[in-house]
Amino acid sequence: MNAYDGFLLLILSSPSGAGKTTLTRMLMERCPELRFSVSHTTRSARANEVDGRDYHFVDRAAFLQLIDQGAFLEWAEVHGNLYGTSIAEIERARADAGCAGMIFDIDYQGARQIRAKVADVISAFILPPSMNELERRLRGRASETEDAVQRRFAVAKREIEHYALFDFLVVNDDVGRAFEELRAIVTAERARRGRRAALAESLLRVGRLAGGPS
Ligand code: ADP
Ligand code: 5GP
Repeated sequence: MNAYDGFLLLILSSPSGAGKTTLTRMLMERCPELRFSVSHTTRSARANEVDGRDYHFVDRAAFLQLIDQGAFLEWAEVHGNLYGTSIAEIERARADAGCAGMIFDIDYQGARQIRAKVADVISAFILPPSMNELERRLRGRASETEDAVQRRFAVAKREIEHYALFDFLVVNDDVGRAFEELRAIVTAERARRGRRAALAESLLRVGRLAGGPS
């Protein structure tokens, strides 16, 4: 698959608690032309989550069936649950004229799979400013049990080990500053030659002046 018809595919990853959900929400609010890719998952919904908006919540049997049907562009097991990006989700967004790109909130395993399959996808990894701050944020999120916090912290380091898979590293120290950095990445990527070459070529095809003094 080649995304270079102007459509932007942006992967956002981070160790749990670094602020990816917060930054993704900000990006979606302020860049309405970008669409959030709603993943499928076998994890159960948290109190504030809505089926179809945050995730498509399915049971394991349904997820395994979707794998068999080849429905996923990528899928992976994360923290004991299955997560996947459906091809249909991307096709729907690409068919929408008002949609200029998609944001994938996925882990490094999914990022690796998409990068192997899709040319021109861009990826950013969000880092916490320190491991102490990461722990503080994980504990501050009331939706997690102590057990889940411990588990997520233990795997965070393993996730950070994969930073080299990503094009950009965004440090989420101050959320407003990190957001501006992310938005700058999106803005610069949209101006890439490959995404605008069609316009340049169409300008060259204009053979004569349209009007003005004769
Ligand atoms: P993730 O999606 O990466 O697991 P969240 O976006 O849920 O992380 O953020 C984890 C917690 O940290 C949340 O309580 C969130 O409000 C808080 N948080 C996010 N970014 C910052 C920041 N820059 N400074 C302080 N707290 C933050
Ligand atoms: P959470 O359960 O906190 O929403 O997400 C846990 C992890 O799963 C996060 O790192 C998130 O990015 C990742 N994730 C969410 N959806 C997908 C997906 O479709 N594919 C993959 N590979 N990871 C996902």
